[in-house]
Amino acid sequence: MPATLSTVSYIGATILFILSLGGLSNPETSRRGNWFGIVGMAIAVLATIFGRRLLGTAEVPIVTANGYAYIVGAMAVGATIGLFAARIVKMTQMPELVAIMHSLVGFAACTIGFASFIDTSAVFPTAAEHSIHIMEIYIGVLIGAVTFTGSVIAFGKLSGKIGGKPMLLPGRHLLNLAGLIVVIWFGYQFLQAGSIQAGMLPLIVMTVIALLFGVHMVMAIGGADMPVVISMLNSYSGWAAAATGFMLSNDLLIVVGALVGSSGAILSYIMCRAMNRNFISVIAGGFGTGGGAAAKPGTAPAGEVTPISAVETAELLREAKNVIIVPGYGMAVAQAQHSVYEITKLLREKGVNVRFGIHPVAGRMPGHMNVLLAEAKVPYDIVLEMDELNEDFPNTDVAMVIGANDIVNPSAQEDPTSPIAGMPVLEVWKAKTSIVMKRSMASGYAGVDNPLFYKENNRMLFGDAKKMLDEVYSALKG
Ligand code: NDP
Repeated sequence: MPATLSTVSYIGATILFILSLGGLSNPETSRRGNWFGIVGMAIAVLATIFGRRLLGTAEVPIVTANGYAYIVGAMAVGATIGLFAARIVKMTQMPELVAIMHSLVGFAACTIGFASFIDTSAVFPTAAEHSIHIMEIYIGVLIGAVTFTGSVIAFGKLSGKIGGKPMLLPGRHLLNLAGLIVVIWFGYQFLQAGSIQAGMLPLIVMTVIALLFGVHMVMAIGGADMPVVISMLNSYSGWAAAATGFMLSNDLLIVVGALVGSSGAILSYIMCRAMNRNFISVIAGGFGTGGGAAAKPGTAPAGEVTPISAVETAELLREAKNVIIVPGYGMAVAQAQHSVYEITKLLREKGVNVRFGIHPVAGRMPGHMNVLLAEAKVPYDIVLEMDELNEDFPNTDVAMVIGANDIVNPSAQEDPTSPIAGMPVLEVWKAKTSIVMKRSMASGYAGVDNPLFYKENNRMLFGDAKKMLDEVYSALKG
């Protein structure tokens, strides 16, 4: 493929990726956004495989003739694993899948960094260009290693294989600072090393420190702070890809990495605001407990609750004029979104004003609830963000909480020692009646007891969300 055609293909792919990100920002255009991404990626892969690169001043094919067999083999293995994962992974396991995918980007950046360093075929016309390449390798491996282990730990935490409690080493900020100083010192050594043998030790030492830092950073995050980590790692994986682009002198990878890195950073900022965390302190890694007490898993129940049956719930809903439904992680676990839709349809036909209140960190990944509700064909115009309807709860007859817990916990506002103190929440307790649908008195992700359950105007509908909603639906129809 001539170099000009490669460049045009790369520009086309970049435009498609930007259109894809734009499309994915809204449920109505997200399918189209996905297609833009798929086509852009296909063009990018083909243009790279059949493209050419600069070697010194000469242009050579990126893939040599006997390299195609390896590429086809690797793509067949990767596509098979991808298809298999897409088929078996449940919606509730998506966040873990995303975390482990981020780790692969980090791993790739590390290995490509080492490969670029020991690759003797690259020719640099000036010493300055060589130094820049060496720094690109060092920074790329650094970001890649942090992303790799950080994402593996995030995967462990999200899948419950590693406990959610923050691991706070004594003097952890000093440890991080010491690690940073050592990394800068070895960066200098790496730059000064004149040969592969001399440069290998600083590169390996830095990689080990970066790997440990990734573990330390995410292990120190506890309770409800994980959403910020997920979006931060998303951003890191983008910067790792951009660094790989610099190492390989691949403009498309630089641009795409920067797009992912910056959109991940914007998402982190939005998540920080949703969690009432300081963006700068998150960037600096000084987050986790947010000044509150550590999470208290299994805190003893602090009062009496009033249970309600499905038939009584249906009666309350039938008599209501305004209903707000607040979905949470439990709706995803129970796969109750289709039952929610049926009830919503029925109530709207009866003239009830039904709306959905979505908390920015509901579920286990950004946009989790929006995806589920869109899948069940709930109209977009009745799905509102927390800020859009939080003031409407006092005028609401029934607030129905489906498998949500932390995002409707009043202790975020009432108890300054709570691990989720300061986090904005949906104020369902201000409705005339709130109904919480869950299986037991167990706490949510943050591991804190929820005083909502004991409020006078609150009712508990115990059971699996889907089963209970189906019973409510039958009672409503009957
Ligand atoms: P929570 O984890 O706080 O609560 C979910 C509740 O659902 C549980 O208390 C559970 O209670 C109930 N539940 C589980 N299965 C079922 C079922 N089959 N039927 C009915 N209920 C069920 O979820 P929220 O959505 O309220 O809050 C999200 C939490 O996750 C926040 O703390 C957030 O910080 C965190 N988080 C969010 C991420 C994101 O990006 N959105 C990423 C990582 C963490 P029971 O067992 O009694 O049924």
